[in-house]
Amino acid sequence: MEGLAISISNAHYLERQSRFESNARSYPHKFPIAIKSAQGAWVTDVEGRQYLDCLSGAGTLALGHNHSAVIGAIRDALDHQLPLHTLDLTTPIKDAFCETVLKLLPGSPEDWRLQFCGSTGADAVEAALKLAKIATGRSGIISFCGAYHGMTHGALSVTGNLGPKTSVGGLMPGVQFLPYPYSYRCPLGIGGEAAVIALGVLVERFLDDVESGVIKPAAIIVEAIQGEGGVIPAPVPWLVKLREVTRRHGIILILDEVQAGIGRTGQWFAFEHAKIVPDMIVLSKAIGGGLPLSLVAYQAGYDVWSPGAHAGTFRGNQLAMATGQATLDIMAKTGVLDNVRSVGAALEHSLMHLQRRFPCMGDIRGRGLMLGIEIVDTELSPDSLGSHPAHPRLSQALQRACFDNQLIAERGGRHGAVLRLLPPLTLTHQEGDIVIERLEAALETATRAVQEATVHA
Ligand code: PMP
Repeated sequence: MEGLAISISNAHYLERQSRFESNARSYPHKFPIAIKSAQGAWVTDVEGRQYLDCLSGAGTLALGHNHSAVIGAIRDALDHQLPLHTLDLTTPIKDAFCETVLKLLPGSPEDWRLQFCGSTGADAVEAALKLAKIATGRSGIISFCGAYHGMTHGALSVTGNLGPKTSVGGLMPGVQFLPYPYSYRCPLGIGGEAAVIALGVLVERFLDDVESGVIKPAAIIVEAIQGEGGVIPAPVPWLVKLREVTRRHGIILILDEVQAGIGRTGQWFAFEHAKIVPDMIVLSKAIGGGLPLSLVAYQAGYDVWSPGAHAGTFRGNQLAMATGQATLDIMAKTGVLDNVRSVGAALEHSLMHLQRRFPCMGDIRGRGLMLGIEIVDTELSPDSLGSHPAHPRLSQALQRACFDNQLIAERGGRHGAVLRLLPPLTLTHQEGDIVIERLEAALETATRAVQEATVHA
């Protein structure tokens, strides 16, 4: 990189970062590096160490880092004097991108409208909530325990995690949470299929109940697989029930596909596993091919808001539309979804195999290349369903040991006890094997370290 002096030490940059940046930064605490370069599923730090990246920009980099098609799309756009910024004015690039996105959606492209948002998933969530309120004339929203929808006030209001909420008063009123079908830690304590049915019936009876205490909401917002909440896939019958009930009550069903959408689960959208059609779909992360972009797709009948009802300066990021288009094209042309299914299944199989050696891997779950491992304490008594309590100390040690073994993996879920794998969708089988090798080594180190610390405590 010409003109940019690169120091050789991570510590140098981290020390400066701690003086320059906010205390709210989070990833540097878990992955204390300064990144020099990245290619595909690999990231190189300024000291020359190479990491296998199973975070991929929190699931943003569908094709991995610096895919030639994505870089080519940026170069091409720049060579053709593309305006970088257009507010919400259209361009040939935007026109083609809209057509491509609309063709991915269920049914006919004419059934849908797109609202481009201010580049973050949270802003698209805000737009969807506002449009649902405007379109129904109602104001309440139902969300689910464990949900993650973003950090702005509205999105945070419908997020489950109490950590970032507790010290922020005055969140959006009229939000009601219902239990999500988290089978490993069943909120009803019954587990299995019976719980899936009961949790669906619970939503139904709650909405049917004229004395529920909750005025009919404008919308229900849900992730077909909770991501930050700990990689928890919603069972298909529960999603089908949710669709039936919301339709019967005229409640808008918003699917937040910010993380699980665009091929991550082996389908273009995670809700497709349940063959349901939402009223609104929130998209961000991978849809921009690595550059900031977010949008809401909604059924055309809800297009009842006035010009300017949701605005934002940076809704017209042309480079992101170009890289998004390139990403969607490559995914369609090169069978990326098949790769997600095949490498995802192989990874899951290997994780199950590892689980026999490491019983602290309490639950392995997910779909495609959105996988989670819930780390539990087998020294403590299991609950009535046989699930041991979460082991946050071990999961934290495991994440650190992964990092020391040059594997980047995020944690999520209650108490941060779920190790999450969100690699690029182009991860090869060989790279998948490396993930497992490094994870196995990390499990050995972390379990030994935590055991020793417990003995000496
Ligand atoms: N919804 C979901 C399901 C997410 O996973 C996230 C981000 N992790 C968001 C919304 C918020 O997106 P952003 O961080 O871009 O605001």
